[in-house]
Amino acid sequence: VPNALTELKARLAQVDDLEGAKHLLGWDQQVNMPPGGAEARAQHIATLSSLAHALFVANETGELLESASAETGELPYDSDDASLVRVTRREFEKMRRVPEELVAERAHAFALAFSAWEKARAQSDFASFKPHQERIVELAIAYAEALGYDAHPYDALLDRFEPEMTSAQVAKLFDQMKARIVPLVQAIVDRGEPVDDCFLHQEYADGPQWEFGQLVLAKMGFDFQRGRMDRSTHPFTQGISPDDVRLTTRILPERLLSGLFAVIHEGGHALYEQGLPPTLGRSKLRSGASYGVHESQSRLWENLVARSQPFWQHFLPHLRRLFPQQLDGVDVDGFFRAVNRVEPSFIRVEADEATYNLHIFMRFELELDLVARRLEVADLPAAWNAKMEAYLGITPPDDRRGVLQDVHWSSGFIGYFPTYALGNLLAAQIFAQARAAIQDLDRQIAGGALDDLLAWLRENVHRHGKKFTPLELVERITGGQIAADPFLDYLETKLSEIYRL
Ligand code: ZN
Repeated sequence: VPNALTELKARLAQVDDLEGAKHLLGWDQQVNMPPGGAEARAQHIATLSSLAHALFVANETGELLESASAETGELPYDSDDASLVRVTRREFEKMRRVPEELVAERAHAFALAFSAWEKARAQSDFASFKPHQERIVELAIAYAEALGYDAHPYDALLDRFEPEMTSAQVAKLFDQMKARIVPLVQAIVDRGEPVDDCFLHQEYADGPQWEFGQLVLAKMGFDFQRGRMDRSTHPFTQGISPDDVRLTTRILPERLLSGLFAVIHEGGHALYEQGLPPTLGRSKLRSGASYGVHESQSRLWENLVARSQPFWQHFLPHLRRLFPQQLDGVDVDGFFRAVNRVEPSFIRVEADEATYNLHIFMRFELELDLVARRLEVADLPAAWNAKMEAYLGITPPDDRRGVLQDVHWSSGFIGYFPTYALGNLLAAQIFAQARAAIQDLDRQIAGGALDDLLAWLRENVHRHGKKFTPLELVERITGGQIAADPFLDYLETKLSEIYRL
């Protein structure tokens, strides 16, 4: 019996339990907590964070990892135990460089910043958020310095979300994307003949919207015995454990697509979380491979599946039953075209598949500048608006629709945005493989049968948890590297057809 490995697993299980409790508090903060609870909640989360961190980076963990490494040395690379030791060791070596005080400071600052951001965003008041944003940038720099990096401090931050990727690799992929997406969007704008989506701009009652969201989730294979759906300002998914996966949406009666696609997007994340195997234990392996890979699952369902014509062949009749008046006379083709309408707009989460990426490029560039101290927080709103004008040709009328729109910075997630665009690339690569493996996939989707697709994702993506790095996983699935072309080909083909370019 390998003793050190058993002891290591018991220790990692405790760390995972503390993380789970922290996630539940975080979920509650966004879903249930009264505004007055913010300061106490910040303390609770900070305490749990530092306990989990201290337990994880303790010398005992290092000794157990040493011995467990010797015990598992003969095991195959992809075995659960060898992977556990390998992945945990990498994480241990990173995290032990971060002082416990910095961990607690970060958790506390972010919990307060989140509440301040909610208020500032509602009132479109960047001035009130500015001190928090300054603190967030300082803490990000301190975090990067503690973690260490070779080329750019941003790399240390990016690595937390996308292990073993660098900002230079991201910049290279983004350049390839820009070279084809910018002219594509320009061609669509120049076409000057927008897709008709006026039927979407009517009142869609909350109740039936909620009902339709639940129906789609169930069809996707979401298990309501092991998960739930709630409401929050900013839709998100939180896996407390694979048997308790929570997603949220926001329903706006005047914007049908907002809540609808939020449910499908978060549903893709939630299916990943529900598909993580219990055999990986209460450990750091029981999570997605990376944020980019996680995003590939949400994008795959949201865009490749739910922005396709076959999907609406099945689901439009259901939606029409719930909204007979609003959707009177709207056919599948018209609906398909409307949900694929391309138009530069202010809000990232409601952007179409093409312009979405432009929102990511500008955030990536702003973050690089902030972390390198090339940009002052005081100048951030103006820099934001200038980038928006450059990439999308529009200027936000206020900060609520500009620099204050995203939750990420207030949650300390600097280095996170690139994973969204990487997720788009990965989704296209992964879906191409699924399509090759499931020959009548389109016909299945048109019949509302999504289980073969989910089974394929379970087998090829979900069941591995965090055993492999994103690059290893992509290699296993596609036989190659992360690449921009499959996504760009898909996007150009679909939009050229719709816009007759
Ligand atoms: Zn997402």
